[in-house]
Amino acid sequence: MGIGRFLGGFAVSSWLALCLSISAGARAETGWPGGPLPLPPERPAELKPAEPIAAPPIPAPPIVSSPLPPEKPAELRAPEPPPAPPAADPGRNPPIVSPPLPPAPPPELSGEAALALKVAPPEDTACRIRLKRLGVVFEPQPGIASGQCTAANPLKLTALGDGIALPQAATLVCGAAEALARWATEVQVAADQELGRPLSGIVIGTSYECRGQNHDPDARLSEHAFANGADVMSFAFTGRPPIAVGKAPEGTPEAKFLARVRGRACDFFRTVLGPGSDAAHATHFHLDERERNAGHRLCQ
Ligand SMILES: [Zn+2]
Repeated sequence: MGIGRFLGGFAVSSWLALCLSISAGARAETGWPGGPLPLPPERPAELKPAEPIAAPPIPAPPIVSSPLPPEKPAELRAPEPPPAPPAADPGRNPPIVSPPLPPAPPPELSGEAALALKVAPPEDTACRIRLKRLGVVFEPQPGIASGQCTAANPLKLTALGDGIALPQAATLVCGAAEALARWATEVQVAADQELGRPLSGIVIGTSYECRGQNHDPDARLSEHAFANGADVMSFAFTGRPPIAVGKAPEGTPEAKFLARVRGRACDFFRTVLGPGSDAAHATHFHLDERERNAGHRLCQ
C-alpha cells in the first residue's frame, strides 16, 4: 500500500506539474497540440469581464440624453435673440420705411401727369363737326402754351344745344366740350322729369385756368390747366328759380335733380367730383376728361 500511495502521489504531482508546464508553454507558444484544452477556461474568463464593461456604456446613454434637454432650451433661447434685434431696428426702420411710402404715390402722379400732357389732340375736325350737330355755339381759340399749362386747340363755348345757354363762356378742348354738350342733353331730360321745367342754362365757374389741383401750387396740375375740365356751379330754368349745386335740402325735387344729373355725368366724364367728395368741391360739380391707366374713372 505504501508504494501504491507513493506511486499514486507521484503520478498526481507529476501530472499537475506537467499540466502547469503545458499551460505555460501554451501561453508562450502557439500550435502546441494541447492548446485547445486550456483555451476554453480562458475565454469564459474574458467573456465575464467583457459583459460588465459593455453594461456600463449602456447606462452612459441615459446620461447623454439628459444633457440633450438642456440643449433644447438653449435653442428656444436662440429665437429669443431675434426679438432683441427688432429693438435695435426701430431706430433704423422708421427712417427706412417712411421714405419709400411717400415716394410711391409720386411715380403714379408723374405718370398720369405725363399722360395728361399728351391728351390734347393735334387734329379734332371730326369732334368739331359733332359739336355743330349737337347745336353747340363755339369759336376756335389760339393754342395755349403757358409753362406746363397747354391746350393745342381750345374752343370758346357760349351756348350748348337745345337752347341751353352758358352765361359765362367756357374755354375747353373739343373732347371736354363734347362731353359737356352730351351731358347737357341728359340734364335737360332730368329737368323736365324731376322739375317739370325746361333747362335754360348751365353756369360754369371755371373752365381753363392755369393752376394746380384745388388751387394748390404744389399739387400736380389740374385738368383746368389743360382746358380739359369745367366746374358747374348752378342750373337755370325757365319758369322757376335756379338750383345751385350743394344747396338743395335732402328729399326735395331739387336734391333729386342734382343727384340724377351728377350720376349721369359719370357716363360722359372720366372725373366727377362734388359735394361730399371733399371740402374743395362742396359747392360745384368738377367734371373733366383726365385719362387714367387702364381707362379708370373717378366718379364720386
Ligand atoms: Zn374744377
